[in-house]
Amino acid sequence: MSIKCFLKVAIFAFTFQLQSVSAGERLNYTLTISTQQDKAVQVEIILSFSGEKDGQTVINLPNSWGGEEHLWTGISDLSITGNGVRVELSEDPFQRVVRHQSGARLTLSYRVIQDWPGVPMATGRNSYRPVIQPEYVHLIGDTIFAIPENFNESTVSIKIKTPETWVFASDLEAEGLNVDALRSSVMVAGDFRIESRPVDNAVLRVALRGDWDFTDAHFADMVQRVVQANHTYWGDPGEDFLVTVLPLEADPGSQSMGGTSRTDAFAFFATANLDENTAIQILTHEHAHTWNPRRLGGGYDEDEEAAGYWFSEGFTDFLTQRIGVSAGLWTATDSLSRWNEVLSEYALSPENTASNSKIRDGFWDNRDLNRLPYIRGMLFAAHAEYRIRSGSEGRINLNDVMKAMRRNNNEIDAAPGSFVDQTLATTGIDLKTDYEQFILKGEVLRLAETAFGPCGSVITSDQPVFDYGMTGHRNKEGKFVVDTVDMNSPAAPAGFKPGMVILERLEGAVGDATVDSVLRVEFEDTVKDLRYLPTNGDMVTMQQIVLSENITNDACNKFLSGRSASNGED
Ligand SMILES: [Zn+2]
Repeated sequence: MSIKCFLKVAIFAFTFQLQSVSAGERLNYTLTISTQQDKAVQVEIILSFSGEKDGQTVINLPNSWGGEEHLWTGISDLSITGNGVRVELSEDPFQRVVRHQSGARLTLSYRVIQDWPGVPMATGRNSYRPVIQPEYVHLIGDTIFAIPENFNESTVSIKIKTPETWVFASDLEAEGLNVDALRSSVMVAGDFRIESRPVDNAVLRVALRGDWDFTDAHFADMVQRVVQANHTYWGDPGEDFLVTVLPLEADPGSQSMGGTSRTDAFAFFATANLDENTAIQILTHEHAHTWNPRRLGGGYDEDEEAAGYWFSEGFTDFLTQRIGVSAGLWTATDSLSRWNEVLSEYALSPENTASNSKIRDGFWDNRDLNRLPYIRGMLFAAHAEYRIRSGSEGRINLNDVMKAMRRNNNEIDAAPGSFVDQTLATTGIDLKTDYEQFILKGEVLRLAETAFGPCGSVITSDQPVFDYGMTGHRNKEGKFVVDTVDMNSPAAPAGFKPGMVILERLEGAVGDATVDSVLRVEFEDTVKDLRYLPTNGDMVTMQQIVLSENITNDACNKFLSGRSASNGED
């Protein structure tokens, strides 16, 4: 048996080890946030529990999570006391071996420190590590709690103390905590503001700090619609949910957002200028992780986790589009343009034929391998949807498989490995060969022309590869400044030169090399318009959905929502 907690870019999975400790054992934590006279903020954690009967208890400090390593460097002043306690270092720097009298009461105390400089920035992944600032803290359970080995079945109690004037919010305020909930928790405290919204019979809380381009109420309303949409899709009753929002500092003109999904919370990070449409799609994706993979059999464990991202991330992206259109969070046309972006990204990915084991091994170190399971999995879901619909004359679709996996959550193995069997059992459609071909081997997946039913046709064509033909950077106003021009690119004869500032685009689109781009540029106090075909001359085979003329009709909406047969009728 295993438990899983999920985050945007990684699954942390932990295998239960039922050894000498009974499930009735209890871990008692006290977490105290205090402000010191020099205004420094101190976070102290005390853990008390009964050590193992054999007189040896191993303590695991936070180590590796979400792409962050050496998390134990955020633990300081660790002390362990109790009857006959002798502490030994282990080979692993995140472990302590404690020898003590049989079953002795042990007390651990330590401080959590921010082990990186500055404030949370849009660049880098530091906001996953403890954030401890003079005005606030942002703490993720996986990165701050020491947990004794073999105590994963224990119940957990936690007392939290904060400075009187500080606002506090955490999913640790829930009842009946266990070790999994402790790890996959988030807490914020300080100058946060809290908005509450009802979702069915439960409460959604949104905790924000800092200044945003929108009001707190507007953002909370948006999150409420997302949470409601997911609950409606899965048919599950409402449950308490917390969204924490941490502002990121960034260079002007750049925008960034991301986050990590907790069991009953989502920690969101973004620059203040976040684009609302992108934000709502990310939030829908993240909240969908409450189900995928956790409630669909879970993800793969530890070293294998990235091998399951085609399902846990890619299918989540598919469901995000489905649920978004279904709940009216965005339109069918918006969704189809998102699908076209993904089809284009797939065609242009230099790794689009990587095997699944290459993704598993290179996920954290290679940007293209990092993106691939999202794209490939999303397209494989559309392919599976097509196979199921066409094989059943439109009577059933992928929703039936997802709902079956939801129902069978406790009986099935990890979701990525169960999907093919669950599809066969639920629909009679055998995707084994497709799975081996497109997921495991990484052969190029081409969608059927009718894979998007009444919405439009999937057209396959050879396209010129989009290439700016120049490099550059953003200036303080957020404008693109040309640094170098490729002399073999059409950009050179068109007149682009280093030092030019691009003021605006008049024609063409980013990513489209089939039509001219016309850019208005400023150089040495002169403004002029330059026209060129932004391509490097290479061709690539790409699929795009060409929208039907009657795209606004009900049929496409219903199709994308998964509510209708492939002929567009209920
Ligand atoms: Zn995700």
